[in-house]
Amino acid sequence: MATTTAETIPAAAGWLDPFLEMWRPGTGEPRQVREPATGRSLLTVPLSTPDDVARAAAAAAAAQPAWAETSYQERARILRRAAEIYEAHRPEFGTWTQRETGAHRNKMHHEQNFAVQEIHAAATMPSQPYGQLVPSAQPERLSMVRRIPVGVVGAITPWNSPSVLGMRVVAPALALGNAVVLKPDPQTPVCGGAMFAAVFKEAGLPDGLLQVVLGGAEVGEAIVTDPNVNVVSFTGSTAAGRRVGELAGRLLKKVSLELGGNNAFVVLDDADLDAAASAGAYASFQFQGQVCFAAGRHIVHRTIAGDYVDALVEKAGRLRLGDPYREDVDLGPIVNEKQLARVDGIVRRSIDGGARLAVGGTHDGLFYRPTVLADVTRDLPAWTDEIFGPVAPVVVFDTDEEALALANDTDYGLAGAVYSRSISRGLALAQRIRAGMVHVNDQTVNDEAVIPFGGMGASGNGSRFGGAANWNEFTQWQWVTVRDEPKSFPFPY
Ligand code: NAD
Repeated sequence: MATTTAETIPAAAGWLDPFLEMWRPGTGEPRQVREPATGRSLLTVPLSTPDDVARAAAAAAAAQPAWAETSYQERARILRRAAEIYEAHRPEFGTWTQRETGAHRNKMHHEQNFAVQEIHAAATMPSQPYGQLVPSAQPERLSMVRRIPVGVVGAITPWNSPSVLGMRVVAPALALGNAVVLKPDPQTPVCGGAMFAAVFKEAGLPDGLLQVVLGGAEVGEAIVTDPNVNVVSFTGSTAAGRRVGELAGRLLKKVSLELGGNNAFVVLDDADLDAAASAGAYASFQFQGQVCFAAGRHIVHRTIAGDYVDALVEKAGRLRLGDPYREDVDLGPIVNEKQLARVDGIVRRSIDGGARLAVGGTHDGLFYRPTVLADVTRDLPAWTDEIFGPVAPVVVFDTDEEALALANDTDYGLAGAVYSRSISRGLALAQRIRAGMVHVNDQTVNDEAVIPFGGMGASGNGSRFGGAANWNEFTQWQWVTVRDEPKSFPFPY
């Protein structure tokens, strides 16, 4: 049983609490969940075991065929109801999201909005056409291709935006007639897992179709290899994604990998400097830079680089750090000690290697000061690595070709941005950046439920979330033909 501890979440008292009292995602060891901003315990919840995963996947597989046969109106109705329930309980969900992840309320609201939009978008899917009549070389034959559910989707999500990253899988997968086994990161069991279970239960989703398990890599791998799981949808780090891809590949299992990024933020010499610097600061520092499509590398024209760095420093200096749930601050904590050490290690090694620390580079507990590194060179970890912290490395260029080469100087390919007053110049450059999502005169942290979100290279294996792409992710083609007269064959010839 999940138990909230002495520091019971006051603003969340209500609808979710009785559910949390009963919630048993697994039969394994209890896990204490801590609030990064205060270190306080939020709840203790039992982890799942590989056996729990097997049971969950079997139950999901057993429930799925009837769901696939359920009328499109009923599937859409349950999704619409889920959106209403989610909206009604946003205060509780928001509180848990802030306290489990250390997010500012703006980020939290943004995420909640997105999660609801994902459900709304998914609710339209059951009523969309799901196939085509296709020509046949045999005119008397009716030939059609149709999209059918994949069966059971295994969804593995990270801690940093668990509501939206989970919902972008759960809602469309269910809408299209699948069952789902969802595993959030164990740091965010409520906003990444319990919330989903509670919303869809109350919405009337038939039993078995949504299974929420909890655990780390071992439990994730059990999902990937479970014979009842047909498709794996993984969002997380590139290292873990490679492992998931290897396991799934051996089993010939379809896998969607949405992975890390080291995203280029290019500022041309004709850019609106104020706009570019404010966007650049937002894209590197908001939510402590713990965003897959954060601006990881600022690539700035030499003639304005000094002013740009000064503007970033000025903005970094004004950002207030603290507990974003209780205080009026701009930035919260890094999620845990391990990640803090990683961020700090990248900053230290980059300074040792020749980067100039323009501001930041220190921390108070988990609160890392927004950091600007100037004079960064391409051999430094601040350039090569995904930092996933509030750090803005700045590199200068002289020509647009050089800017492009710098932007593409990475194995990652998630997002990119170009600032220029010349739309044609900005567009010409943006279109040559090797990334799944590129913006002119806007920053990298951008998403909408209707666009095919995803990356290239080390940022993913070509999978996409959102809009029409969801049909590719969560259904498979079936060719069906039918003829009035049974056909016979002259055989042997
Ligand atoms: P992570 O890879 O450590 O964990 C992500 C999820 O995978 C967690 O649920 C974790 O328990 C699970 N997991 C870990 N190892 C596994 C394994 N071997 N098999 C199966 N599951 C496993 O990532 P994180 O640190 O929680 O999240 C940050 C990373 O996620 C960053 O690299 C970030 O860029 C990336 N991310 C990508 C997107 C995107 O859409 N491209 C979105 C958000 C975050």
